[in-house]
Amino acid sequence: MIKKTILILLFLAFWVSTLSAQKDNYLKSTNLKGNTLTLTFKYKVDNVKFFTFKHKGIIKYVYDIKNAVLPHTLSIKDYKYAGVSAFKMGQFSKNYLRVVIESKYSNYNTYAIHGKNLLFKLPKVKKAKSIIPKGKGKKIDKNSPRIVIDAGHGGYDIGASHGKIREKDITLPLALKLEKELRYRGYKTYMTRKTDKHLYLYERTDYANKKKGNIFISLHMNASPKRKHRNYLYKGIEIFYLRGKSKRKRYADRRIYTGDWKKKKSYLLAKKIKKSMLLSVRKKHIVLDKGVKQNNFWVLRGTKMPSILIENGYISDKYEGRRLKTNAYQNLLIKGIANGIDRYFNKK
Ligand SMILES: [Zn+2]
Repeated sequence: MIKKTILILLFLAFWVSTLSAQKDNYLKSTNLKGNTLTLTFKYKVDNVKFFTFKHKGIIKYVYDIKNAVLPHTLSIKDYKYAGVSAFKMGQFSKNYLRVVIESKYSNYNTYAIHGKNLLFKLPKVKKAKSIIPKGKGKKIDKNSPRIVIDAGHGGYDIGASHGKIREKDITLPLALKLEKELRYRGYKTYMTRKTDKHLYLYERTDYANKKKGNIFISLHMNASPKRKHRNYLYKGIEIFYLRGKSKRKRYADRRIYTGDWKKKKSYLLAKKIKKSMLLSVRKKHIVLDKGVKQNNFWVLRGTKMPSILIENGYISDKYEGRRLKTNAYQNLLIKGIANGIDRYFNKK
């Protein structure tokens, strides 16, 4: 804290004095492209003093540029770069313009002077790998397992909501990612919806039956109810499969399928997928296992094939809600689901 205060004071104290600097090499522009930050000056860059120091686990790369002057209009503080936590620039003294780049990475190339340009090479950070590999993937033929993917809700049916987060806005991208991943792994995929449109529940199961799916996966997000139960944790992953042989039907003109074979297979599918999902998300996050449960949801009963409904997490939970919206977390979820499907079909 003291260090910081001194630094700020120094910046302020010397700012005014710079106005009288002689042969001022004004900074004319800044640019961040790829992993290179470029400062362009009026004249050739004279000399740079470079040093680093570590503060609270962050390495500060400090560059003092001789005879350089910073106009009030230029700043680098708004630049964003993965691996750099802050870009700072200020008139350190009459003769020196100071640039500070803060990063937790210690492996980088520092700087290079090219005439009027001063280039800073930023640490190359491995981007969060997309789990969808490039290329065509495995061949899909008539023997490939047929997976029906059901993005929960859609259209005017927004599903659960919490603040600005709506269930239907997460189920769709999640379903589209899962479709891509499963195709790559050699499955035939069928989507009950690919756009933000409304579907009745019977339309989802009719479609799955018409497409003769081998399994049916319905994707949903949870949210805590208004009246919360004490001692109940509203977070984590849970998977449902059909319950019992209840004759109660939601749609009188449609059959329900609650045979033992389907029930057993659905349970097996739920178990494998839940295990794989937790393995995947827990690589990076703490996620609660809410188990495999039974329910009489229509989509689990109206399908002829083994069917499960995945509650991928609670949008109402502060942390879970935030990460459920991210590509990185969605990728972890679908990788887990796809691994579980592989295991179900005995590929692994
Ligand atoms: Zn839902």
